[in-house]
Amino acid sequence: MSARRLLLLGPPGVGKGTQALRLARELSVPQISTGDMLRDAVARKSEVGKCAKNAMEQGELVADAIVIRVARERLTQDDACAGFILDGFPRTHEQARALDEMLGELGTPLERCVAITAEEGVLVERLLERAKTEGRSDDNEATIRNRMQVYHEETAPLASYYSEQGLLRDVDGTGSIEEVADRIQGALQ
Ligand code: AMP
Repeated sequence: MSARRLLLLGPPGVGKGTQALRLARELSVPQISTGDMLRDAVARKSEVGKCAKNAMEQGELVADAIVIRVARERLTQDDACAGFILDGFPRTHEQARALDEMLGELGTPLERCVAITAEEGVLVERLLERAKTEGRSDDNEATIRNRMQVYHEETAPLASYYSEQGLLRDVDGTGSIEEVADRIQGALQ
């Protein structure tokens, strides 16, 4: 039986969102993307949105306390008790510890962390393409470079955090969406 409480880890542009959506449909569990939730908060001009806007536009991380609150609210909703695909959360050690704590309280610990990898040059190209088609305000070259750097400094070290817990599986993120999806399936058995 496939794991259903999952975290997808990986640099910007590696395809986490696409794969998270696919998996969520396949496993009938929600995709939980803090990036999507924060973009929605910015669009609604909510308190969270006002706090998050600047950091997001510059490719910096939104403050841990805010993101942790947003994630907690989502993870405690009923539809997340059968499982979830976390996409873009946690991104720092503090967030990872907070996640462990909240899942511990809920009695639903994480079952697997899938780290999707790809060469940085390929990712920057992909993000620049996405900028043209999707018009995300944080998809310009300076912000993309900054998001990559922030990823290396703050988020990439989480791979060892999950490896120490025996939860980490590395998956090659190059190739077609289907090829990557097949590799992820393999990593979930
Ligand atoms: P994403 O859609 O996951 O690439 O997220 C877009 C932006 O939202 C990021 O560049 C951050 O500014 C912010 N963000 C999303 N998730 C987090 C998180 N877990 N921690 C801090 N900032 C986040």
